[in-house]
Amino acid sequence: MRTSLRLAEYEDILDARDIYSLIALATFHAKYMGECSRAFIKLESLDTATAEERENYKKLAMSIFTRFPPEDPQVRKYPCPNDKCQTPIFDWQTRCFECNAAYNGCIITGRPILSRDKLHHCRTCKHRMYHNGSKLRNCPMCHTRLRAPGETAAQSKRLDQAAVAAQGSSSAGRDDHEFD
Ligand SMILES: [Zn+2]
Ligand SMILES: [Zn+2]
Repeated sequence: MRTSLRLAEYEDILDARDIYSLIALATFHAKYMGECSRAFIKLESLDTATAEERENYKKLAMSIFTRFPPEDPQVRKYPCPNDKCQTPIFDWQTRCFECNAAYNGCIITGRPILSRDKLHHCRTCKHRMYHNGSKLRNCPMCHTRLRAPGETAAQSKRLDQAAVAAQGSSSAGRDDHEFD
């Protein structure tokens, strides 16, 4: 859901209908009905929607919000990382409504980057992520091997060399095959 909300920042590139349909679905299933109703308002006011489509969005919204009030769950808030602001914000917001600071997103969870605890950045693509070292071995964006927490520089170098060697031998194998 957090990742779908990020899409709203790309209205100039992506189709608004795709963006808000996906947000409406994700927020509905995550039971964030406040965000869900905001997505429906966007869908009902799309320039490209026909009168019939608008009517259908309205009907669907009615059937949802007469059963579920358009409210988000009460969850923990975090202070805006702008020291002068510190307005409490939710961890699905991508921007502070008070000071308008924009937050980078974690590329694993979609959460805004609000603290440096467990924060990693990929050595290759520089994208940031909250990573506790459990399951994920490679960067989700560029597939560079991620360093495990506590990995020493020497261990890191050895593992990187092993990864490069493994890659080299498999591509060499492919090349041989092509020249057969
Ligand atoms: Zn702020
Ligand atoms: Zn990366």
